[in-house]
Amino acid sequence: MTDPRPFLVGGEWRTSEKILDVRFPYDNSLVGAVCLAGPTDLEDAVRAAQHGFGRTRKLPTHERIRVLKRLAALIEGRKDEIAETIVLESGKTAVLARAEVERAVETLLLSAEEAGRICGEVIPLDLTPATAGRTGYLRRVPLGTVLAITPFNFPFNLACHKIGPAVAAGNAVILKPSSKTPLSGLVLGELLIEAGYPEEAVSVVPCTTGLAEWMVRDGRIAYLSFTGSPAVGWHLREIAGRKRVGLELGGNAAVVVDEDADLTYAAERIVQGGFSGAGQVCISVQRVFLHRSVFRACLEMVLERTGALRAGDPKDPAVDVGPMISEQAAAAAEEKILEAVSDGATLLAGGTRAGTLFAPTVLTDTLPTMRVNATEMFAPVITVTPFDDFEAVLAMVNDSPFGLQTGVFTNRLDCTFHAFDECEVGALIVNDIPTFRADAMPYGGVKASGLGREGPRYAIEEMTEPRLMVLHRR
Ligand code: NAD
Repeated sequence: MTDPRPFLVGGEWRTSEKILDVRFPYDNSLVGAVCLAGPTDLEDAVRAAQHGFGRTRKLPTHERIRVLKRLAALIEGRKDEIAETIVLESGKTAVLARAEVERAVETLLLSAEEAGRICGEVIPLDLTPATAGRTGYLRRVPLGTVLAITPFNFPFNLACHKIGPAVAAGNAVILKPSSKTPLSGLVLGELLIEAGYPEEAVSVVPCTTGLAEWMVRDGRIAYLSFTGSPAVGWHLREIAGRKRVGLELGGNAAVVVDEDADLTYAAERIVQGGFSGAGQVCISVQRVFLHRSVFRACLEMVLERTGALRAGDPKDPAVDVGPMISEQAAAAAEEKILEAVSDGATLLAGGTRAGTLFAPTVLTDTLPTMRVNATEMFAPVITVTPFDDFEAVLAMVNDSPFGLQTGVFTNRLDCTFHAFDECEVGALIVNDIPTFRADAMPYGGVKASGLGREGPRYAIEEMTEPRLMVLHRR
C-alpha cells in the first residue's frame, strides 16, 4: 500500500496526521488512504481561493477554454487509471466507471464551449424623457469562490459538473469530495493544475463533515454547489448565510408505462434504470406504474430480465450489479423491504443480501405510504403497481416529497403533454426511464429534490451574476 495521498490547498500538496482509509465496497479491502485537511488548511484554502480569484476573473475567454480542453485531454490520457480508481472507491462496475470518465470528458468539453457563450445584453433605458440618452450594457461576471461538495455515486463526473462551469465562468474552486470516494477527486485537482488553471484557485480538501460545514458557513465562499442527500443539502442551505446555493438532491423516481407502449423496450430500460449502479443513482427507477391491461405481460418481462442479472465483484466484466456503498446502506434498504413485506407487500425477486451485495429486488402490492415508496431507496429495488387511468397515475407520480425526473412510455401526444403539464419534476422523459441524463441538459429537481439546475450552460448561469453599466450618451 502506498502512502496516504496528500490533499491540495491553493495548488500546494499537503499532508496531515489524520488519515482516512478508502475501502473497496465489495469486500471492504483497503484500496487507498488520504490525508484529511484540518481547520488551518481550510482557512488557507479559502484565502488562496480569494487571491486566486483575482487572477481567474481576469483570464480571457480563450485561456479558460484552453484550460478546459486541456483538462479534458489529460483525463482522456489517464482514462483507464481513473476508471479503475472509481471502481475501487465506489464499487460501481468497470463498464459504468469507464462511461463516467467518458462523460466527464464530455462535461468539460461542453463547459469549454459554453465559456464562449457567456453573453449579456444591451438594454434601452431611454424609455422616459428623464432617462433619455441612457443605455444599459449588461454582462455576467463570475461570483468568486465556488465550494463544490460531491457524493460518492458519481465521484468524478459530478465533480466535473461543478469544476467545468466554475472554470468556464472564471471562478476559484474548492472541492470537498465524498469521504467514501476522495481518490478520484484528488486526481481531478492535480489535472486541473496541470491544465494550467491558476494554482491558488484550486483546492481539493477531503475533510470531516464538521469542517465542511465551517466552509459552508464562511462568508467568503460565494456559491455552494452541493450534490448529495436531501437531509444534508437542505441543512446546508439553512446554515449557508447569504451565499447562493445550488442543491442536486435525491428522489424516488417514477416511471409510467401506458397501454400502447413498446413493452419489451420499456421492460429492458426499467431493469437497467432500477438496478444499474446497484440502484444508487439519484434518478434510479424506483416506482414503476404499469397500465393494468399490460401489467402482467410487462411485469413478466421485467422479472425475466431481472433474473438474468449477475450481481458480484464489480471488477468482473460479466457482472451487471455491483455492491452498495456500505453494509449500513444495504442493511437500511433491507429493513425497508422486510417492513413492506410484513405490511402486505409481495416480494417477486431478490430481497436478499450478502454483506454489501444486494440482489435486484422487485416488489408489488405496496402502498404509497410504505417506505419502499415514500422514501428514497437508493438501492437496487423497484416497486411495481398497476393503474387504470392516466390522470390518476399522474397523481400517484406526484404523491411524493421529491421531484427530480419522471419517465412516461406512451405514444399518445395528448398523454405526453398532459404528463408534461402535470408532473411536478425538473424533467419529464418521454419514452424512456427517468434515469436518462445527457450532460448538456438542464438537470435538477423541484420539491425536496433540489434547487437550481446543473448542466454546463445552466450551472454557469448560477455561478455568475449580471453586472450592469449604464452608458450616458451626451
Ligand atoms: P451525502 O449527503 O451523505 O454526502 C454528500 C456529500 O456531502 C459528501 O461529500 C459528504 O461527505 C458531504 N456531507 C455529508 N454531511 C455533511 C455535512 N453535515 N456538512 C457538509 N458536508 C457533508 O450523500 P451520498 O450518500 O454521498 O450520496 C447519495 C445522495 O446523493 C442520494 O440522496 C442521491 O440521490 C444524491 N445524489 C443526487 C444527485 C443529483 O444530481 N440530484 C446526483 C448524485 C447523487
